[in-house]
Amino acid sequence: MIEIMTIVLGLEGTAWNLSAAVVSEEDVLYDAESTYKPLQGGIHPREAAQHHASEMKEVVTRALRAVKEEGVLLKHIDAIAYSQGPGLGPCLRTVATAARALSISLKKPLIGVNHCIAHIEIGRWRCGTRDPVVLYVSGANTQVLAYRAGRYRVLGETLDIGLGNAIDKFARYLGLSHPGGPKIEEWASKSSNYVPLPYIIKGMDLSFSGLSTAAKDATDSHPGEKAGICYSFQETAFAMLTEVTERAMAHCSRDELLLAGGVGANKRLQQMLEIMCRDRGARFYVPESRYLKDNGSMIAYVGLIMYKNGDITPLEQSGVNPHYRPDDVKVTWRKSERFKS
Ligand code: AMP
Ligand code: MG
Repeated sequence: MIEIMTIVLGLEGTAWNLSAAVVSEEDVLYDAESTYKPLQGGIHPREAAQHHASEMKEVVTRALRAVKEEGVLLKHIDAIAYSQGPGLGPCLRTVATAARALSISLKKPLIGVNHCIAHIEIGRWRCGTRDPVVLYVSGANTQVLAYRAGRYRVLGETLDIGLGNAIDKFARYLGLSHPGGPKIEEWASKSSNYVPLPYIIKGMDLSFSGLSTAAKDATDSHPGEKAGICYSFQETAFAMLTEVTERAMAHCSRDELLLAGGVGANKRLQQMLEIMCRDRGARFYVPESRYLKDNGSMIAYVGLIMYKNGDITPLEQSGVNPHYRPDDVKVTWRKSERFKS
């Protein structure tokens, strides 16, 4: 069975999480990871890249050893996939170098994967949703997307920073360590005292940097209101996301919503989206949290579906792109799906 199945090794390391995973057509076989934790402050791109470089051998070896125990040997791996962007330049280059070295030494094709598309496709795979509107909210990215005529179209996005980074920035100001999201969520659950904060939507686009600044100012003027300000930050940002997502679903006549990206782990965000979907008679899908945050499985999985469609990356086109947009990617694999939009 292993001989006839397509199997791909995927490397992820666009920011803080280095991960190597082996995925078959049927399942995730193993996902090994090593997380960079800044001693203080936020992610330092060079330090994160150094972390990835020094951990790469151990993480890849761990993944390969684990699958070997299941009978999957190097000869069974069909291709090497890696995150080509978007992400932090030094981190992307480190991971791409490792992927190229593996591809050349093992004589396996190389597949450059768009990180945003990987978040979407792992969610579609794990949740079994066919043609959803996708709300993708991570550290650096915030986008609302839907597939149409060969590409994932960006229907709305942040005009400045991703919501995760806005949350992390505010969390740092409160003296909370990285990543701030889960700590802000915990503080927010202790209050329901709403402090007005800027709600900024322009058409289908959003802005979060003013929200972090206003939350910092509110903390200075009401030092005893930490929980209330965390609550208000979440309520404001998540209501903005819910409004734009609902409009996207209405405009595209879609009745499925998929949540993707690390911020998607937030229970209050999930609850707001769930209520919105229920009110519209739509279905709401969230993958397990290990597939929400950055992970190697999603890169290996997209590598696998690209490989099956002959979509491989020649060495001379394997350079990284820190600003790689999901709508730059020609989606080669959905043509063969039974359902098309
Ligand atoms: P990613 O870039 O997809 O790995 O997501 C990382 C981002 O998700 C960081 O900015 C985290 O602070 C954020 N995050 C993780 N868990 C939560 C949570 N429970 N609530 C809000 N944000 C979160
Ligand atoms: Mg991500």
